[in-house]
Amino acid sequence: MNRGLLLVVSGPSGAGKGTICKALMQKKSDIHLSVSATTRSPRPGEVDGESYYFISEETFRSMIESGGFIEWACFCQNYYGTPREKVEEQLAAGHDVILEIEVQGAMQVRSKFPEAVFVFVMPPSLDELRNRLSGRGTEQPEVVEERLKTALWEFSNIEKYNYIVLNDDVDKAVDRFIHIIEAEKQRTERNGALIATVKERID
Ligand code: 5GP
Repeated sequence: MNRGLLLVVSGPSGAGKGTICKALMQKKSDIHLSVSATTRSPRPGEVDGESYYFISEETFRSMIESGGFIEWACFCQNYYGTPREKVEEQLAAGHDVILEIEVQGAMQVRSKFPEAVFVFVMPPSLDELRNRLSGRGTEQPEVVEERLKTALWEFSNIEKYNYIVLNDDVDKAVDRFIHIIEAEKQRTERNGALIATVKERID
């Protein structure tokens, strides 16, 4: 059995990563979406254990110390991290896993899991990004500005990713993701067991 594919999805806040990942899960139910831990307060409608594990800074720090995160980062004054156990379990069981995380965390994943696939989600334009961020209505104007500034820094890291998916339309963006996943699974280096079987029959 091959190990599951680890798919890391980044992109500025408001680019639509969350919407794409949810829609992708509906189309491909065999993918596990990792639930992150954060010290940020829940937004209206967010559910603990589903949207995030909402935890205190103290709990977050003790998880860092016990090696409980694959990666973690401070983003716009809140901490975010990927809990290790579930992700390792799912990959070992051959299930694909998505991490929807920001750029600093993605780079930590890249050094620990060089076989992972890195996708950057692009909003159609910066104006559209600003509209989406302010249209959410869940953040104060200064937070929107800070997130936009961070977005510009995130764009400057785009070349560290393997793929760019333009989110001009959610359905099209999800299809682009599905194509990436299918192509990646057919890479020779991910099909060691198949190659070994073929070679055995040739010898
Ligand atoms: P938000 O506060 O809008 O939910 O998320 C802010 C940013 O943190 C987003 O770019 C999101 O992808 C990222 N993020 C969410 N979970 C994690 C995580 O576990 N690790 C890291 N490094 N970033 C995360």
